[in-house]
Amino acid sequence: MATPNETWRIGDTELTTIVEAETAGIPAALFYPDIADDHLAASADWMVEGAVGDDMTITFRVQAFLLRHRGLTVVVDPCVGNHKNLAMPFWAHQDLPWMEHLIEAGVAPDQVDLVIHTHLHEDHIGWDTHLVEGEWVPTFPNARHVYVGNELEWASSEKRRQIHDAFSESIAPVFDAGLSWEVDGDADLGDGLRLLSTPGHTPGHSSLEVETGSERLVITGDVLHHPFQFAAPDVAEVGDQDPDRARTVRCDLFADLADSDAVVAGTHFPIASVGRVETHAGAWRWGPISS
Ligand SMILES: [Zn+2]
Ligand SMILES: [Zn+2]
Repeated sequence: MATPNETWRIGDTELTTIVEAETAGIPAALFYPDIADDHLAASADWMVEGAVGDDMTITFRVQAFLLRHRGLTVVVDPCVGNHKNLAMPFWAHQDLPWMEHLIEAGVAPDQVDLVIHTHLHEDHIGWDTHLVEGEWVPTFPNARHVYVGNELEWASSEKRRQIHDAFSESIAPVFDAGLSWEVDGDADLGDGLRLLSTPGHTPGHSSLEVETGSERLVITGDVLHHPFQFAAPDVAEVGDQDPDRARTVRCDLFADLADSDAVVAGTHFPIASVGRVETHAGAWRWGPISS
């Protein structure tokens, strides 16, 4: 399915969605095992058309954000990638034209200066490497790749690598090529790019704050996966490693985004991924802004 790249200009920064896949009709319980009818119903009065379907289904997107910012070309969270040996059947060995979408946006892989990962789940690191004659090699040979230290510790742990070894396929080759940059979870990366430590989903999860010259831009990562969570922030996502901490962090971030009237880019948000957050009915709501 071809989803066109969409671009927003926010202050002096340009943000483009580079979509890998968007899938409708996914049972919400697959991602949210404890979800109830009223969790989805709570957002019904403002939900983006198509983001929630009939019979407790949701639409879900996997995408990266391309930033053109202060002369830098930055890729945030480069998706699942092609041909990966992953445990998730719907992500394993896929062959999707994500790279074609990046090139359509006017970026060749060797022009990328910086790759930022909000965390190291397999759907956020995949395109960091690609297969060349049976070997996983870095896709962005001139980019520094940002990793949060304690996230790296978790991703490289024996336990994590027993489930599926995304570390060997998508992270180790970047380190071997000398392209890694290890930082703290709240690191100032320079050039108006700053990590906001937002742990819980994973131990070293960080969102990304961008100084655009006018408005504040925040890329959420997996603090939440779908906009209905603004109305139901207590619902845990199946991948949340520490659900209690993830809940607290979600509410704190939502309050901060609403207070600061930030432009927000939701990493897995379907249909309309960029918008603003405001307080609503004892929780929050999401309103997209057009590209
Ligand atoms: Zn994740
Ligand atoms: Zn994710």
